[in-house]
Amino acid sequence: MTVRSRSAVTALAGLTVGAIALTGCSAGGPAAPGPNDKIKVVASTSVWGSVVQAVGGDGVEVESIIEDAGADPHSYESSPQDAAKISDANLVVLNGGGYDDFMTQVLGDAPRPTVQAVAGGGHEHGGHSGDEHGGEPAGEHGGEPAGEHAGHDHSGNEHVWYDLHVVHEVADKVAAELGKMQPAKAQQFEANAEAFEQQVAGLEGRVGEIAAAHQGKPVIVTEPVAHYMVEAAKLNDVTPPSFVNAIEAETDPSAAAVADIQNAINARQAVAVLYNPQTESPVTRNVRTAADSQHIPVVQLTETLPQGQSYVQWMDAQITALQGALNR
Ligand SMILES: [Zn+2]
Repeated sequence: MTVRSRSAVTALAGLTVGAIALTGCSAGGPAAPGPNDKIKVVASTSVWGSVVQAVGGDGVEVESIIEDAGADPHSYESSPQDAAKISDANLVVLNGGGYDDFMTQVLGDAPRPTVQAVAGGGHEHGGHSGDEHGGEPAGEHGGEPAGEHAGHDHSGNEHVWYDLHVVHEVADKVAAELGKMQPAKAQQFEANAEAFEQQVAGLEGRVGEIAAAHQGKPVIVTEPVAHYMVEAAKLNDVTPPSFVNAIEAETDPSAAAVADIQNAINARQAVAVLYNPQTESPVTRNVRTAADSQHIPVVQLTETLPQGQSYVQWMDAQITALQGALNR
């Protein structure tokens, strides 16, 4: 058997499994997990999947739908296999904010315990009106932002896993949902969440060090993926608005917008360029080349985890890279 025909058979087998799982699933979702079952959790991306794994430990079986570190999650289209996995989950963890609408679309009117990272409000979640869990915000992030989060409502930027407060809150929410399903393990889930949150607090401390050393330094971004971290590090995002607006509208920047960002880099208006390789385009590649030729450090900040890394390892490495660029 050739390699090619074997992969075709595997693909077919996958389809069949998907079809069985789909038909085997009632409108109300899968049966509740027994006390010794692993709780099946589906997360939209490997980022949230890693958070769930940290909290659930060996009490959960986690599937992340978007795992490819080379692909752009913004343009992800879910497959029938994805739909089968989502429909079979005891708990669904999603980002919200328009980032992973396919999750809510698959669930449709079938209610499912759900943790959503982006607080509700200002975003459309198609076909989700019947699901009381769907719009549930993570922790204190519901409704009006308060305290440290004043002016920080997450409606403009969906990349909330760069906001370490949100990650902390999602971990708490996941622990609470898992604990409801298996009360005997609730304490363990809570302890796991606390250990994870301590690591996240360590990351926050490192971002605070960047703020203390580099407050106000100008940076240019090819996509505001790390917006909340830039904010927490008190850096000054000086990316020309014409460019940012085009990227956020998911349109090609105009020639004038491209000229604006090129000029800003050629005039060395930023001390670092923050580059998202997962949403790269010929335009952003040119930005990167211009930065290289001006000897402006380029820091890669991504949407999802590199293969084999946990959330904390990944974020820690990214913070190190940012710090290194700013120290140069
Ligand atoms: Zn993005």
